Amino acid sequence: MWDKTSIRVQHLKPSAIRKYFAVPSDVVTLGIGEPDFTSPDKLIAAAHESLKRGNTHYTANAGIYELREAISDKLDELYGVKYDPDSEIIVTVGASEALYLAAATVLNPGDEMIVVTPCFVSYQAAVELADGVPVEVACRLEDNFDLNVQAIEDAITPKTRGILLGFPNNPTGAVASREKLQQVADLAAKHDLAVISDEIYERLIYGVEHVNFASLNGARERTFIVGGFSKSYAMTGWRLGYVCGPKHLIPQLYKIHQYLIMSAPTIAQEIGIVAMRECEPDVERMRQEYDRRRRLIVDGLNSIGLYTFEPKGAFYAFPQISGTGLDSTTFADRLLAECKVAVIPGCGFGQCGEGHVRTSYAVKYENIEEALNRISDFVSKLKK
Ligand code: PLP
Repeated sequence: MWDKTSIRVQHLKPSAIRKYFAVPSDVVTLGIGEPDFTSPDKLIAAAHESLKRGNTHYTANAGIYELREAISDKLDELYGVKYDPDSEIIVTVGASEALYLAAATVLNPGDEMIVVTPCFVSYQAAVELADGVPVEVACRLEDNFDLNVQAIEDAITPKTRGILLGFPNNPTGAVASREKLQQVADLAAKHDLAVISDEIYERLIYGVEHVNFASLNGARERTFIVGGFSKSYAMTGWRLGYVCGPKHLIPQLYKIHQYLIMSAPTIAQEIGIVAMRECEPDVERMRQEYDRRRRLIVDGLNSIGLYTFEPKGAFYAFPQISGTGLDSTTFADRLLAECKVAVIPGCGFGQCGEGHVRTSYAVKYENIEEALNRISDFVSKLKK
């Protein structure tokens, strides 16, 4: 039996949170990190039309030009950030691919990447797959999970090559402030670091401003903006994302993308154009519904006695469960086994996530109500 697999894959830990996704049908799940909405009708119709026209071939490696143009226009319209569709945008297989491309472009073996936590489970893995070393720097509940700039600076060593951050944040729902983001941009310039800014939840914000990292003073030349269609347009299954960066860096990412992927799925790209050009009302419709659910879940969890910071973006709430005396894995396992509610242990999102669980409100309003009833019973039983 051949078993000499690479040290790289042997060291990679399987995602600790997968087991909370595949749950029996009597479980109310707040575990999933994807919209419960189906992609907008207009997109499904556009996909049918595109297939009928025989669009089953590869596209340009960097993606259909019109889609790159649509991405460029959107970033300009929303943030006044200009990216040249010819040379500064690559359409990828989800934001997931974009994260890897950026990490692999920045890191040499053994280089360090500061990963701002709590964070999406793939960040550390993307760094490790690029043979780098993730160095976690925590955002704190007492700072409303905003950036801790001093802690980031303290973590910089001669091996540090970049900072990877994601706001609006999965799992906390925090939206970083302009002030702190500018301080991180200044830090990156001072220490000559790259910045990978995952902004996939940029459109799901509730009453606050989302700041595009490349729009900050002095940031654009060292920044990769990672974006996607999965969350704002309810397009997880189409696998479509993008990465934008300066002209002198994008050709390096392009080489990896070209050999690894060739081109993102053609039909997904075709409807991505329609999404960006015509689906603004759908984005707003879904955002408003998430907002309604957000208020329900935050009030509900707080009244159960699980302190919950008010998320300002994405579709997650991150209640503190340490007061129950259980660690996050035990809390999630027992809640699942005893009350049939799935949540994700906070420790899956970086060491500092311990003491919390992630609940998603990308699920139906009634399901959140039912989950809250069950969590309330569970927590009261623990107190007895
Ligand atoms: N970035 C964050 C913060 C996410 O939460 C996710 C998915 O959950 C992704 C990236 C991956 O997105 P995509 O479906 O575009 O690969």
